[in-house]
Amino acid sequence: MLPGIAEAAKVAADHAAEVDKDARFPVEAVQVLRESGALAALVPVSLGGAGAPFESVARSCFELGRHCGATAMVFAMHQIQVATLVRHHEEGDWFAGYLSRLVDSPRLIASVTSEVGTGGDMGRSIAALSQAEGGLCFEKKAPTVSYAAHADDYLTTVRRAADAEAGDQVAVLSSRDQTTLEPSGTWDPLGMRGTCSPGFTVRATVSPDQVLAAPFATIASESMVPISHIVWSHLWLGIATDAFDRARAFVKALAAQKPGEPVPAAARLSHVLSDLSLLRGEVGSALRDFVEMSEEPGRPRLSTMAAALRFNSLKLAASEQAPKVCQGALGVAGIVGFKNDTPFSVGRHLRDTMSACLMVANERIHETNAGLLLVAKEV
Ligand SMILES: Cc1cc2nc3c(=O)[nH]c(=O)nc-3n(C[C@H](O)[C@H](O)[C@H](O)COP(=O)(O)OP(=O)(O)OC[C@H]3O[C@@H](n4cnc5c(N)ncnc54)[C@H](O)[C@@H]3O)c2cc1C
Repeated sequence: MLPGIAEAAKVAADHAAEVDKDARFPVEAVQVLRESGALAALVPVSLGGAGAPFESVARSCFELGRHCGATAMVFAMHQIQVATLVRHHEEGDWFAGYLSRLVDSPRLIASVTSEVGTGGDMGRSIAALSQAEGGLCFEKKAPTVSYAAHADDYLTTVRRAADAEAGDQVAVLSSRDQTTLEPSGTWDPLGMRGTCSPGFTVRATVSPDQVLAAPFATIASESMVPISHIVWSHLWLGIATDAFDRARAFVKALAAQKPGEPVPAAARLSHVLSDLSLLRGEVGSALRDFVEMSEEPGRPRLSTMAAALRFNSLKLAASEQAPKVCQGALGVAGIVGFKNDTPFSVGRHLRDTMSACLMVANERIHETNAGLLLVAKEV
């Protein structure tokens, strides 16, 4: 785990119920994350950073998820952007300088990949770069931009140029003062309420240096897609683990009230544990696979169909298993789990994990997998 996460998790827990109730940004916990250096932890030593291993980031997402799902999701979304820049910048380019500056002046980076008209299909864009006075500009209709109003920078996918194919995309980093956000919706959702993710029309003008040179298709397969699925599944596991812990605390309290008598809820808890164990196993093994594939020179395996299937399967499994564990915990705790104001409440956990199957719709991923399964040599 990264330094500062334990303290951030404690602060996040203190405010989690209120963040959820008011659908407000977890400003206190994110401030601790900024001050602790955790936001820039992945910046490599060669650029003046701590060069923290990716595993520490993933485990930090798990830990934050155990205390506040929204804080964990904000942290995870930011780390996806940083990891992408770390893995795809080029020596001496604008992004190398940006990453160096992050170490002393932490900045929160939001993600603008989803687009009205393409939904969660990260592989296509309608918005495109065009020439403008002072550089390049774009306008993108984004249905959901988490913590947009609280971010310092935005990593946005657009087509390379107005005449480029839908799949010929690049990633552009714009700062807040280069970006305007025109609200196009509200944010009063079922769960993950503290991520504050309404829609915006995003407009920015940037210098050409602020466009990552690597094609987005490479960035997506080698980094953004697998990393998203790994950090998201870690935080969903964190939320599910806390729901399980609350159900267990309830069962222990029941047992303490009637020493020596059988506790039927304990058997139900055992069923929940077996679901949690499956989730743990899949999340842990996907992290190990990703780290192993990332360590190979050139990362060739990450561009294979087998790797796409492997990390898509993680997302599908984790997004279904996490709410299942939370619902199981609710079944164990009963009405005190259903109420929002008891030590055994798991309503927030269940609602937060129900967002998992929508964050890139599972049916969309199944459709991608279906195509890959027909042609992939190895699975
Ligand atoms: C809490 C939260 C925070 C988010 N934060 C961000 C963010 O910061 N930045 C960002 O870019 N995105 C973010 N997203 C993701 C984004 O909102 C959605 O992934 C995206 O908008 C897709 O929305 P959609 O479900 O309407 O679209 P679609 O993916 O089009 O899905 C709509 C419906 O159609 C079905 N469907 C669509 N395509 C297919 C298909 N090919 N085959 C079968 N069925 C299909 C789906 O199953 C779904 O039921 C966030 C999502 C959530 C839940």
